[in-house]
Amino acid sequence: MQYNTKQREVLMSFFESHHDQAFSAEEIAEQLKSEKISISAVYRNLAELEKDGKIRKNIKSGNRKIFYQFVDCDECKGHLHLTCTKCGKTEHLPDADSNKIVKSVLQNSNFNLDSDSTILYGVCEKCRK
Ligand SMILES: [Zn+2]
Ligand SMILES: [Zn+2]
Repeated sequence: MQYNTKQREVLMSFFESHHDQAFSAEEIAEQLKSEKISISAVYRNLAELEKDGKIRKNIKSGNRKIFYQFVDCDECKGHLHLTCTKCGKTEHLPDADSNKIVKSVLQNSNFNLDSDSTILYGVCEKCRK
């Protein structure tokens, strides 16, 4: 299992240093070429990281391309995320804004939103231009 741990570490540090970007598995494999990680190893590790809640899988509308983004930072606990269905990027909604939405849903619908796992889908500013 040693080699798996190594690959996982490489992938994790890749995501950590590209925290605000979303990547397809192919793009990740391309970026990690120097680490000699095969595309199948990338897929396997991505699946594991997703299962562990370290990264999030987004599917672009249109071409149904799958993108991955790191979501396991401490700052991400307690706020909602906005995912663009055009470019696959996930944005972090500021805590104050998240709280407003969560509160309003709770007051109006008596439903307690789980902000850590709730994603709002739409189109980002860049993709609307
Ligand atoms: Zn976040
Ligand atoms: Zn976008």
